[in-house]
Amino acid sequence: MTTPIPATLIPGDGIGPEIVDATLAALDALKAPFEWDRQIAGLGGVQQAGDPLPAATLDSIRRTRLALKGPLETPSGGGYRSSNVRLREEFQLYANLRPARTIIPGGRFDKIDLMVVRENLEGLYIGHEHYVRIDGDPHAVGMATGINTRQGCRRLLEYAFETAIATGRKKVTLVHKANIMKVLTGLFLETGLQMYEEKYKGKFELDTIIVDACAMKLVLNPWQFDMLVTTNLFGDILSDLVAGLVGGLGMAPGANIGADAAIFEAVHGSAPDIAGKGIANPVALLLAAAMMLDHCKLHDRATRLREAIDATLNIDRVRTGDLGGTASTAAFTQALVSRI
Ligand code: NAD
Repeated sequence: MTTPIPATLIPGDGIGPEIVDATLAALDALKAPFEWDRQIAGLGGVQQAGDPLPAATLDSIRRTRLALKGPLETPSGGGYRSSNVRLREEFQLYANLRPARTIIPGGRFDKIDLMVVRENLEGLYIGHEHYVRIDGDPHAVGMATGINTRQGCRRLLEYAFETAIATGRKKVTLVHKANIMKVLTGLFLETGLQMYEEKYKGKFELDTIIVDACAMKLVLNPWQFDMLVTTNLFGDILSDLVAGLVGGLGMAPGANIGADAAIFEAVHGSAPDIAGKGIANPVALLLAAAMMLDHCKLHDRATRLREAIDATLNIDRVRTGDLGGTASTAAFTQALVSRI
């Protein structure tokens, strides 16, 4: 018998509980040995415990060091700070891995197999912001500070380079804006080039590109890229672009990896517009669960899950509305489970 693996489960907000139920059904069918500790966060945390990131949730992840998380709602503008960002900070989840692979062939972009590795803790994304009051207008000026550190760049780049080698990626592209933000993203670029010369030369090809050109080339010819490695904000934007190449957010999983904890999630948000309707696509979270199985060295089950997703979408042609189908979340899940 496989040893039980304690893991925290955060169903999350909006469509979260619906896609988490689908994912649990698949993991049960695979006899995945996770011992779930259910916790709350986000809007659910505020409503049930008066806190978007309750102490019990943090304690649970401190104990398990492993979590599967549904999307968490964050108010735009005012309101509480993103629980996702706080979780990344609390557990120092410095690398965000976002693979994008064509699962449904025949679309505008076929045979895509790209990995985006995003720095997850630094840069302009850290939210160090303030307003400046001028002439009685409290919001006359908005200011943000971005911070990148040599150490932060190094650990992310090392993780990315080692992952490239371990997963057989042939080419790594560093994405930056060092022509304009010479210090903030220049440090990332300089560190990457230096590390490549010192330790990684010859193990894969290294290329560099400015973020705006990268966005254009991803749309014109995405096949020229293999792995993109970039800073926090650029990674946030480009990984959604890349998700669009393979069928949209409903197909994009993400892993937040630290030295001693990992949280797996879908890239998309809580989709309040379709929450409770039973039509959400659970594939992104299912693929995140496959990444979690790989992370726990349960590679056979990860492969079986990915193959079952492929077969359900392409052989059975059972698809949710965002993929042009008519299946409900429950119908997709039933078809998937019967493929496992
Ligand atoms: P969103 O990703 O929730 O939705 C964007 C669009 O994609 C919507 O039309 C939605 O219906 C659709 N969509 C998303 N996931 C889908 C799925 N699985 N199946 C079918 N359609 C899907 O983005 P948003 O509306 O900008 O954000 C809503 C909330 O989610 C916000 O509060 C935001 O802060 C939060 N959010 C959370 C995370 C996270 O927890 N990791 C990530 C992004 C956004």
